[in-house]
Amino acid sequence: MADVSCVVCKSEISVESDVISGEIVECSSCGQEHEVHAVNNSISVALAPEIEETWGE
Ligand SMILES: [Zn+2]
Repeated sequence: MADVSCVVCKSEISVESDVISGEIVECSSCGQEHEVHAVNNSISVALAPEIEETWGE
């Protein structure tokens, strides 16, 4: 496991150490979704892009 900080509320978010880039993790405190970036065993997160509910069109 690895801990990263929520971009919005700074709460700790635990992510699997084998998480892959592009995976979405949700902050358990504020619900903000983050996109994981895993580079050279260093895991960071950024705000996930807003996803409209138009997938599959
Ligand atoms: Zn948060």
